Amino acid sequence: MSGNGDRLRGEFEACFGGLAAIGQDPAGGWTRLAWTDEDRAARAWFEAEAGARGLGVEPDRAGNLWAWWPAPGEAEEGGVVAVGSHLDTVRRGGAYDGALGVVSGLVAVGELIARGVEPRRPVAVVAFADEEGGRFGTPTFGSRLLAGALDPAEVLGRTDQDGVTVAEAMAAAGAGPDEAGPDPALLGRLAAFVELHVEQGRGLADMGQPVALATAMWPHGRWRLTLTGEANHAGTTRLADRRDPMLGLAAAVLAARAAASELGAVATVGRVVVDPNSANSVPSQVSAWLDARAEQDQTLDWLVTAFQSAVEEAAGRNGLTAELTAESRSPGVAFDEDLTARLYSCLRATGLEPVALPTAAGHDAGALAGSVPTAMLFVRNPTGTSHSPSESATLDDCLTGAQALATVIEELACR
Ligand SMILES: [Zn+2]
Repeated sequence: MSGNGDRLRGEFEACFGGLAAIGQDPAGGWTRLAWTDEDRAARAWFEAEAGARGLGVEPDRAGNLWAWWPAPGEAEEGGVVAVGSHLDTVRRGGAYDGALGVVSGLVAVGELIARGVEPRRPVAVVAFADEEGGRFGTPTFGSRLLAGALDPAEVLGRTDQDGVTVAEAMAAAGAGPDEAGPDPALLGRLAAFVELHVEQGRGLADMGQPVALATAMWPHGRWRLTLTGEANHAGTTRLADRRDPMLGLAAAVLAARAAASELGAVATVGRVVVDPNSANSVPSQVSAWLDARAEQDQTLDWLVTAFQSAVEEAAGRNGLTAELTAESRSPGVAFDEDLTARLYSCLRATGLEPVALPTAAGHDAGALAGSVPTAMLFVRNPTGTSHSPSESATLDDCLTGAQALATVIEELACR
């Protein structure tokens, strides 16, 4: 590799390694839930890495961190070109989800600075807050709050499993929620947002390609199902006398799978809370979360309707009450065609030919796409696995991605 390539490689390895050292879970993988000590350490890491490249970091009103190149006010011709992703992870997640986009943004800006490139428009590397929703059940919290898609009063009152509210957790992390809310002034300054992300499936691996441009994001949502029966003795209660919510849950899980399979969608029940969660008791209540995604909004509606009617039928059969509430719903997103075409041609000029790929994962880019011209780059994930320690990307592919992001920033902000 050339001298420049060696520099990029060294910068990337050091930067990525610094973040990967934070939040390693003794049980495997990485756990950096929003506003925890691990998340706070990752945010401090971001400020230090940005500072080391001469970028000043400012929070916005939604708890996201913005690293500016150059400082705001120094290059105001045209709108801001923003790149970035998120620092938080799911419980025992992978090293690349979110991290790769933030690291690539910092490294790409550092590379342009090292090459003596001058920005004509302000560039920002953004670290969005609480993208995964792993603690408070509000995925893409920071980007949606910024964009005005969340009601601050409602989401700041949501609690984690220990009863701590978002507002309390943000305050404890020094991210003052007093004025937390949308930031239309900042949003209005953005000319473009580009998120680089590790692919969360096998699309690129199957095509033998390192990098893709996203075409669209599937509509998706999260629903909470609460089934209530009656706690009772596991030995002395006759089967006929039981009102066992676990039977309702079993039917619900199978119904979700059947509906998804029939509709060409995906549905997952990945979290269950059982009360009293005792091995020799019929439970009194079971709560479960349905995550569902489909190519079309209509299909997603059909899936949830099918799930709900199967749940109600099973509840009736087992003497239960069932309540299904939507916790979040994100419509499908088509990324900006003009911006994506511009990215394609500037990357093609460097010899890279990104393929086009839709995604069933949610991203901060999807939350901004309604207000700002937005595009996404995906980097190949050989295992196709994500939200798991086995999520992966080769160093060469990561460098190809970081180099592509540098090309994109140069095209959008430095010409
Ligand atoms: Zn992510």
